[in-house]
Amino acid sequence: MTDTDNHLAHRLRAASRDREQAVFAERPDGGVTYGRLWTQAEQTAAALVAAGVRPGDRVAAQVEKSVEALALYLGTVLAGAVFLPLNTAYTAEEIGYFLGDASPTVFVCDPTRRAALDTVAAAAGVGCVLTLDGAGAGTLAERRVAAPPIPADVPRAATDLAAILYTSGTTGRSKGAMLSHGNLVSNAEALVETWRFTAADRLIHALPIFHTHGLFVATNVTLLAGGSLLFHRKFDADAVVADLPRATAMMGVPTFYTRLLAHPGLTADATARMRLFVSGSAPLLAETHRQWHARTGHAILERYGMTETNMIASNPYAGERRAGTVGFPLPGVEVAITDPESGAPLPQGTVGMIEVRGPNVFRGYWQMPDKTAQELRANGFFVTGDLGRLDAEGYLAIVGRAKDLIISGGFNVYPKEIESLIDDLDGVAESAVIGVPHPDFGEGVVALVVPAHGGAITPVAVQTALDGRIARYKQPKRVLMVAELPRNTMGKVQKSHLRDAYADLFTGDPGGHKADLT
Ligand code: AMP
Repeated sequence: MTDTDNHLAHRLRAASRDREQAVFAERPDGGVTYGRLWTQAEQTAAALVAAGVRPGDRVAAQVEKSVEALALYLGTVLAGAVFLPLNTAYTAEEIGYFLGDASPTVFVCDPTRRAALDTVAAAAGVGCVLTLDGAGAGTLAERRVAAPPIPADVPRAATDLAAILYTSGTTGRSKGAMLSHGNLVSNAEALVETWRFTAADRLIHALPIFHTHGLFVATNVTLLAGGSLLFHRKFDADAVVADLPRATAMMGVPTFYTRLLAHPGLTADATARMRLFVSGSAPLLAETHRQWHARTGHAILERYGMTETNMIASNPYAGERRAGTVGFPLPGVEVAITDPESGAPLPQGTVGMIEVRGPNVFRGYWQMPDKTAQELRANGFFVTGDLGRLDAEGYLAIVGRAKDLIISGGFNVYPKEIESLIDDLDGVAESAVIGVPHPDFGEGVVALVVPAHGGAITPVAVQTALDGRIARYKQPKRVLMVAELPRNTMGKVQKSHLRDAYADLFTGDPGGHKADLT
């Protein structure tokens, strides 16, 4: 294939074009060179075109993490089509919704799920179902080898779609965020520059690849820089610790960091050659930041982003990485803090809605023009749904999701403020503060507290510690000890689950609630 301008593929390929033998991914069974990756991507494009995929068509995939799955992503882009990765945890019924909504031309799934998924694919009108397993085998691989090569990359402009990623959909229907070639290129370029990625980098990749973090942040940045991945099928603390001495960087969710801190192999020696630890997708506890620094000498760099906007802000590479903040907007990205009701800009230092504008911001929700119009303003700003504050030096702090805001007795309560105080108490590992229906106050503040290993903190001790430190209306009306907080695969605490579990705490049978969510 020669390059006509396929905006994303062309740029991702530029750094490795003359380095076909350079290693793209190292995995336990050996290395995959850039030459092999792109040959496989071209063959995949040819197989998709032979299966009827036309420019702009969707190619959906629910597959195990593998380098071949990344070649499927790149092959889809080369074919001018739109990649639609799906969480491996989704049930057949859930997959049915996505296939029906996005009407892909081809759906690729794991061979072990084929029988169950064939039926939902047929019901959704998907004409071609192919398979790909975690080792890269399946009918897609067979077709790849057999397909006649296509003469050139399919040209695609910056405004054309490259991917649709469905949001995790904590409320209502899951929405398909449409991401263009330009969205992905501009964001990868901004991150390579901000985080100083080069061909010498070896990035520990233990994130899933159906989400923006593992698929775009980690993979596109590495491709654009021409570096290599130390490819992990999933996060395993032993395996990651073993790779630290030969890596230069790692990108992870906060749970990676807390699990690694619990591993005796995490030492300053083991991380001596690392230059960068990045955390995102969920808030990193200030305590984790401190412990990591004390143990390894490295300050974790926290960044902020979302499916619809790619990455928005990052702590600085050089300069203070401030715990509890996500740093500054990336190059080319604007952040505004506005009144959640009126949308009017708020004075610096005030908590408000985080809005974002820039080349990173998506092109809207797939087949949801009304939803798109609600969240993507005519002036180009996207309303993130996150609440935050800019400090005097321009660091952005996230205070929580707007929908997690608690209104108790008419007063606004920001859960993060209370969680930070509780998390700082001796004997506390972490906490989640939620609002649940209350007969007098509308919502009552409830704190779920996970004790630290061996900690003996009691609900009364938590309440006493908060007394006098924050206004009474913010103080939890109930504190409950729990063994752990429910999290999704990206490490986000699922507050909607907690709100459901404790919905009748103040309104129902006082003894009837679940006191422990293990
Ligand atoms: P997703 O679209 O699944 O990537 O989720 C995006 C959401 O994750 C954002 O809107 C934030 O609420 C949250 N998020 C991402 N990064 C951070 C961070 N560093 N701190 C706090 N929340 C974050």
